[in-house]
Amino acid sequence: MSETRYIQVILPVPLDWEPLYSYEYDGDPAEAIPVGARVRVCFGSKPHVGVVSCADAAEAAAQVGPSRIRPIDGRADDLDDVSEEEIALWRKVASYYLCSVGEVFKAAYPSLKVSQEETRARARARKAEAEEKNVRKAEAKVAQLEQRLEKKEAALTAAKKDTVIARLSVERDSIKDALEQARIGLKMVSGVRSDGDPVDTMLDVTGPSLSAAQTRALEEIRSLLLSRKPVLMHGVTGSGKTEIYLSLAAEALSQGRNVLILVPEITLSRQLEDRIRDLFPNHLQVFHSAETALSRCRTADFIRKKPYLVLGTRSAVFLPHRNLGLIVVDEEHDPSYKQDSPAPRYNGRETAIMLASIHSADVVLGSATPSLESLYNCSAGRFGKVNLSERYFNALDSDVEVVDTQAEWKKNGMVGSFSRKLISHISGCLDRGEQILLLRERRAYSPTLRCCSCGTVVQCSKCNAPLSLHHRSDGTGALVCHHCGRVHEYTGKCSKCGAGLVSVGAGTQKIEEEIRNLFPSAQVARLDSDSAQEKNFAASVIRSFSKGETDILVGTQMVAKGLDFSGVTLVAVLSADSVLSQGDYRADERGLQLLEQFRGRCGRRGTKGLFVIQISNSEHPVCQTLDGSLKQEETMSRFLSERKMFGYPPYSREINVIVKDYIEERLERTAAGLAASLRRSGMSSSAKVIGPFPPPVDRVSGLFIRQIRVLLAKDRNLLTDKKTLKDAVDSFSRKEKCVGRISLDVDPV
Ligand code: ADP
Ligand code: ZN
Repeated sequence: MSETRYIQVILPVPLDWEPLYSYEYDGDPAEAIPVGARVRVCFGSKPHVGVVSCADAAEAAAQVGPSRIRPIDGRADDLDDVSEEEIALWRKVASYYLCSVGEVFKAAYPSLKVSQEETRARARARKAEAEEKNVRKAEAKVAQLEQRLEKKEAALTAAKKDTVIARLSVERDSIKDALEQARIGLKMVSGVRSDGDPVDTMLDVTGPSLSAAQTRALEEIRSLLLSRKPVLMHGVTGSGKTEIYLSLAAEALSQGRNVLILVPEITLSRQLEDRIRDLFPNHLQVFHSAETALSRCRTADFIRKKPYLVLGTRSAVFLPHRNLGLIVVDEEHDPSYKQDSPAPRYNGRETAIMLASIHSADVVLGSATPSLESLYNCSAGRFGKVNLSERYFNALDSDVEVVDTQAEWKKNGMVGSFSRKLISHISGCLDRGEQILLLRERRAYSPTLRCCSCGTVVQCSKCNAPLSLHHRSDGTGALVCHHCGRVHEYTGKCSKCGAGLVSVGAGTQKIEEEIRNLFPSAQVARLDSDSAQEKNFAASVIRSFSKGETDILVGTQMVAKGLDFSGVTLVAVLSADSVLSQGDYRADERGLQLLEQFRGRCGRRGTKGLFVIQISNSEHPVCQTLDGSLKQEETMSRFLSERKMFGYPPYSREINVIVKDYIEERLERTAAGLAASLRRSGMSSSAKVIGPFPPPVDRVSGLFIRQIRVLLAKDRNLLTDKKTLKDAVDSFSRKEKCVGRISLDVDPV
């Protein structure tokens, strides 16, 4: 018996669509479309594949009325259903990050992936059909041979004459052989169908063996996890946090539960990947955003069926996880966990905690320089904390030498970007056959160009930002905008007055050139996002450096993170000012984290390393922390008390309201109007609305930008205040017809 049924559907759109529209279909109630099923529907005139979020929406349908009920185009049953856990995560993320569930759905199932899923589903169906056919053929063959054998045996029993018996037994034996072969054949074709490793061999895993200090830390973590809170492991660089993660992973896997390990960037995690592959070769799935749609589908297929350990970047939280027992967030402080744009502007670390709560999984966050956010959560009792202060190879802290570049200039102590002091350390290292890492935060040859006559700084035509000069491999120059990516030809002349341009400062390319000139016989390589664009380049640079084929590696923060090289004894940061003074209240926290991690790249095998910091402001508290005049904990608590004093995060929840427009005057009006209406919106009195103000780069790709900073107290009003804020923004954008020009960024980094 067929009847009309109503459902609600999540669509990959920025609108909160589910409550607005319902869909209907006619069908047998026994075959009702369940929650999580994928359905084809139209939104406007555009076809979409949506996910059923409510299977019985008769009441909601009655409320929206017949004009807002559409028929579905059909069920996409070739696509895998989405689990209720996945939908639960989307809802949590949408509500935390103030975006639509559809935007989270879209991040989890990008359209390219959906179309690949469809292609694969068709291919899978064809393959299954072919396999089925093979199995049937093999079965028929076995049955036929069995019959023939039976007949032969009967004839043999009936036979009297020796010659006949001899002939029949030869024939019987050959049928027996053929049958044997056919049975093996059948086993093989039906084995293909049953798809891979049996589960029990995959549960057979053993973890690494640990040092005494690591064992202690592991036990502490285990006991803290019993209280179901996330645990922050604060372990110095080189303490072997990886081995502890992998011990916990082995435990989870052997209990039949799955594991997710998040890392900030996959290129820098090759060594971790190799280590995991050593221990759990059958479980490892590597997943990151640059993965092709096809391999995303493969990973999703794998984890739907088999016990797994996924090593991935932030978007791996949106895989169709099931039965998760453990989530690890390595280098939890790293800003790359945060997605800037588009919505959902989520942080992988926070989302991992939401995901873990859905699966009742354990969460372990690890870092040598934890985020203030996590330290605050520890002190508020929301996280457990474990310290690991012993290095695995008993290496000592590297010495730190701060070189004041201003002072050096005055006494002729600088050669280009390098101080004579640093040059002498480098040449000592090269003489001893040791390796060197050089960090410079700016890529390009020259980050800024200025006219030598009129002083004009060369700017991008579409952004309020300077253009950087990059040298191409053919020797020509290109002016590149690091904000919109536009490339302009380099003429060397000022467009205003025609005089020559001079470079201001040196980027990684120029540093590389200078170091080659200073040490012509050294092997030098460069690693930054320009050089890493070439496929596999980063991996090969890292490999040859770790084999000792390269003496000096120059790079941006890519060289500071996570890599484990045994031969490095000297690391140096050039123009550390650019790491520390970025006009943002988070700059010092970030700078300390980056530089501490960078320091950890040297002296990893017991030899004492040296960390040279070239900076013009040598009194900076971050320098003093690194050189040991201040303790890390003291500096972090000082940062925390400053944040507390100003009511900044982690003592409040920050939400950035970003307004963009091509017309600057209209933008100013909109932003001022929006700020006023947020102040009137009825958020609790502790809520602060700051601005509007222009961000440091206030025009990108032709769009002018204004920001309003909202700080909400972390008290019992927080959730209502967030909702009030979201409603106020939505109603303002509808009223002022500026939907799409305002976005919200919760916990910006
Ligand atoms: P972290 O991530 O804490 O900086 P790593 O996990 O990279 O430290 O470990 C530092 C080095 O010590 C690596 O080379 C690693 O292989 C080694 N190591 C750490 N723990 C062990 C262990 N239990 N057994 C063998 N080697 C270890
Ligand atoms: Zn630009």
